[in-house]
Amino acid sequence: LVEIRNVSKSYSGHQVLDGIDLTVNPGEVIAILGRSGSGKSTLLRTINHLESVDQGWITIDGQLIGYEHRNGKLYELTEREILGRRTAVGMVFQNFNLFPHLTVLENVTEGPVALKRLSTAAANDLAHTLLARVGLGDKAEAYPRQLSGGQQQRVAIARALALSPRVLLFDEPTSALDPELVGEVLDVIRDLARSGTTLIIVTHEIGFAREVADRVIFVDGGRILESGSPAQVLDSPSHPRTADFLSKVL
Ligand code: ATP
Ligand code: MG
Repeated sequence: LVEIRNVSKSYSGHQVLDGIDLTVNPGEVIAILGRSGSGKSTLLRTINHLESVDQGWITIDGQLIGYEHRNGKLYELTEREILGRRTAVGMVFQNFNLFPHLTVLENVTEGPVALKRLSTAAANDLAHTLLARVGLGDKAEAYPRQLSGGQQQRVAIARALALSPRVLLFDEPTSALDPELVGEVLDVIRDLARSGTTLIIVTHEIGFAREVADRVIFVDGGRILESGSPAQVLDSPSHPRTADFLSKVL
């Protein structure tokens, strides 16, 4: 479903991604672990082309992300073309990133109306269904500032789902939350995992990674240092840097 081949990226001479190879199969749940600054967010951001890559390529369902072959040459897509295709990838950020001036319902319907040309009525129906799914059926008319962080994050998940993405990316979805609100967000992600949604989750919640992930990946210095089942990577890591990291977060 998602193919990442030899992807590298530097910021002014500082190599942030260094030859990343990753294939994500339909329905797979991948947890990405790694130290601060190891390149986790940058990797997610290349998957929906919030960042371009310097080298390598990424496809989703065989379609190149951010680029296109025309007449045997590789072209970078325009911002408009990228927007049209970005619906294949949903993203949920650490800080929710809801539109503060829109209601919960409008936050969820904005994407389908603007990008998928859904009618307002159809988008409203869809939004109500998704808000019920994340346990916020009664908050449609509220504004983000009237919600707790956990509720805002669940709206952000409903908003991402509204575009029917092929894969959903989570960048530390619970690290901005008060501890007592983490569980309600993890519950929603767990439901998505069980329902067969393809997920790539950057998280420091090791217990959660163990529980929901089919595969755990440890990123270090822009490389995938380790990749395997939760038991392999979390219980018997093959690399000392993974073991060192785990000893500090567990
Ligand atoms: P964290 O756990 O703190 O979120 P991370 O693994 O997500 O870290 P990234 O955000 O991907 O790390 O950043 C990797 C490196 O790239 C860092 O050294 C960061 O300073 C650098 N970096 C990220 N974005 C930019 C940017 N837009 N311009 C310059 N440097 C950047
Ligand atoms: Mg990050």
